[in-house]
Amino acid sequence: MTFKELKLIEPLIKALDKKGYETPSPIQQKAIPYILEGHDMFGCAQTGTGKTAAFALPILQLLEANKKPNSRREIKALILAPTRELASQISENFTAYGANLGFSHAVIFGGVSQFHQVNTLKKGIDILIATPGRLLDLMQQGFIKLGGVNYFVLDEADRMLDMGFIHDIKKVLTKLPAKKQTLFFSATATPTIMKLANGILHNPVSVAVNPVSSTAALIKQQVYYVKQDKKVGLLKHIIESQKIGHALIFTRTKRGADKVAKQLNGYGIKAEAIHGNKSQGSRERALKAFKDRTLRILVATDIASRGIDVDKLSHVINFEIPEVPETYVHRIGRTGRAGEDGIAISLCAHAELPDFKGIEKFLKKEIEVVKKHPFI
Ligand code: AMP
Repeated sequence: MTFKELKLIEPLIKALDKKGYETPSPIQQKAIPYILEGHDMFGCAQTGTGKTAAFALPILQLLEANKKPNSRREIKALILAPTRELASQISENFTAYGANLGFSHAVIFGGVSQFHQVNTLKKGIDILIATPGRLLDLMQQGFIKLGGVNYFVLDEADRMLDMGFIHDIKKVLTKLPAKKQTLFFSATATPTIMKLANGILHNPVSVAVNPVSSTAALIKQQVYYVKQDKKVGLLKHIIESQKIGHALIFTRTKRGADKVAKQLNGYGIKAEAIHGNKSQGSRERALKAFKDRTLRILVATDIASRGIDVDKLSHVINFEIPEVPETYVHRIGRTGRAGEDGIAISLCAHAELPDFKGIEKFLKKEIEVVKKHPFI
């Protein structure tokens, strides 16, 4: 299957060539034809499956097909995302895929001054990518009108609900035109999610890939059993002995993330932490440095890491075991993306054993135990 066979137009094919994508990912193969036909969609897919392109490409194509000459610029596509990081990454994807088309887009999120966002909006945009809070805020101030929206995407709906955005989403929905195409993406299909989806989708087509209980086959998973106070030493040993050049490390808490980053720097391993207490600027700088590979190690909490999208990320390390098995799946889904191999390493202390066993039960598989290491 090629992108041409998906009937994508030349300007998009060219942009995909430039990105180096050769074949559409499963969610792209399944979703793009239906979206191009104008269907509403319930997409069950997590980050790392290529779901952003699965909705961004057909939306760009539909916008191009329905372009009216000399019409006023108004927001025609709205994409709602739960976090600033995810919203920024969706925006970067629109920049890349839409490079050969003339649409303008903007991304808005809270935690930063609204000044530049408002200026961009005033110039007139076709596509808006937003987190719910800032969107409502700017709508209430009269800077955003959604009456011309033809395409509406709710991305990572499950995470939006987890983060308590349900009321914000409902408010936004009341401002959207009744006639529009809605695409709803979620990594899980719990009863609450299905209730929300059923309330806003009309005769949707359902597509699903990689349900959250299955981890990508290409990810090699390992666990090291180690005392909590020996974890940093072991982490240093793993990074150095395996010559890990680029890794995303997860901690449970913000303080934990800061502490691990500090200790690694103390060992001469360049690391930075990102979490909700850091300013937007410092989070973006760290993320950019990590993407550019000038930063070797990024230490993140789960919320801050949501949607982190780094090409060819080879290693994910769970410095602490998450309590919820789905979180483990989300974390390790950051590696082994789009057909690449990846390695997920977990450091498990005695007290975390029940959580780790819970993850194995959820995955229905035993994770390889690395028995020989100097910190046993
Ligand atoms: P997403 O699930 O949208 O976060 O995408 C995961 C990663 O896969 C991103 O780094 C995309 O740039 C990349 N990607 C998306 N589609 C493809 C494709 N067809 N071929 C190769 N990489 C892709």
